[in-house]
Amino acid sequence: PMTCYINPLCAHEHDPRYTNPPPADPKKNIMIVGGGPAGLECAYVAARRGHEVHVYDKRKELGGTILEASKAPYGDDELMTCIRYQKVQCEKAGVQFHLGTEVTEDLIKEELPDSVVIATGPVYPKSNAPGFDTANVVNVLDVLRGEAKVGDHVIVWGNRKPGIGVALFLAKQGKKVTLVGKEKSAGFDINPSFKWRYMIFLRQNGIKAYNDCDIDEVKPGEIIVKTYDGYRFPVKCDTIVVTERVPNENLKNVVQAEGIELFVIGDALVPRNMSSAVHDGFHIGVRI
Ligand SMILES: Cc1cc2nc3c(=O)[nH]c(=O)nc-3n(C[C@H](O)[C@H](O)[C@H](O)COP(=O)(O)OP(=O)(O)OC[C@H]3O[C@@H](n4cnc5c(N)ncnc54)[C@H](O)[C@@H]3O)c2cc1C
Ligand code: SF4
Repeated sequence: PMTCYINPLCAHEHDPRYTNPPPADPKKNIMIVGGGPAGLECAYVAARRGHEVHVYDKRKELGGTILEASKAPYGDDELMTCIRYQKVQCEKAGVQFHLGTEVTEDLIKEELPDSVVIATGPVYPKSNAPGFDTANVVNVLDVLRGEAKVGDHVIVWGNRKPGIGVALFLAKQGKKVTLVGKEKSAGFDINPSFKWRYMIFLRQNGIKAYNDCDIDEVKPGEIIVKTYDGYRFPVKCDTIVVTERVPNENLKNVVQAEGIELFVIGDALVPRNMSSAVHDGFHIGVRI
């Protein structure tokens, strides 16, 4: 079916549920936790319908993970155009921002909103591989913010777009980068119109990708990669960058225990990409 990566209205112009959603009835006080693409999309769509919408983010700036994702090379700064658009729409719709404010159990109990939308992005897990805990392991967001100490022989754990983005970022600094990930093909989550370009960029930057593989063990100066069929081999490594992501379960129990209406959207629900985050946000924004 026809669709647009960032415009949920595209191909639904005939459908009033998309183009002219009903006014809020009843009007609700909505707490949106997370000012990334999912939270922002939900915020302005719900506010336009007449809800009172508050977006909270522990960061001081809106944009969520896109703030870091947009630092990867080859035009990824374009991702911020979506955030800038959403921010303007939020301002026009009267969304109230609470930046630099982490939503905690106490804050939810204090505010007692009618609805909570969890748009907190994913959690970056640890590997169960022996030795992982003692290795030099850094998070992808810290690397892109320039806040992590990264050596010269880097293993990027995860072969989706976040892994590819940070691998290219580090290769441009002259580091030897290897991708190790469970997906059968690297970058399977990238929009097909762009994926072929990223495969060329990986090759041009000398980045090897071991797909359908995982880190089996971490030893001093190397990791052991295990293929899907059990073959094990070493790769030189002084730093592991975590880009694998899992859903974010934080705060869900608190909201449910208070009997507050709950929605979970974007990477907090299932880690995917900006398009899915925007579409999730829109669909809850027109329904809430
Ligand atoms: C390196 C990298 C490259 C990527 N490249 C692309 C790409 O090219 N194209 C693409 O489509 N996608 C890309 N992605 C994926 C994309 O960034 C995510 O899918 C998208 O940002 C998810 O949006 P979200 O709104 O669900 O969550 P996020 O963008 O993760 O936002 C969540 C926000 O919630 C806030 N938060 C969390 N907990 C709390 C709390 N308790 N209180 C207050 N605030 C809180 C966080 O501070 C954060 O700002 C990339 C991701 C990475 C890491
Ligand atoms: S954002 Fe661009 S591609 Fe998407 S519907 Fe609008 S003009 Fe078309």
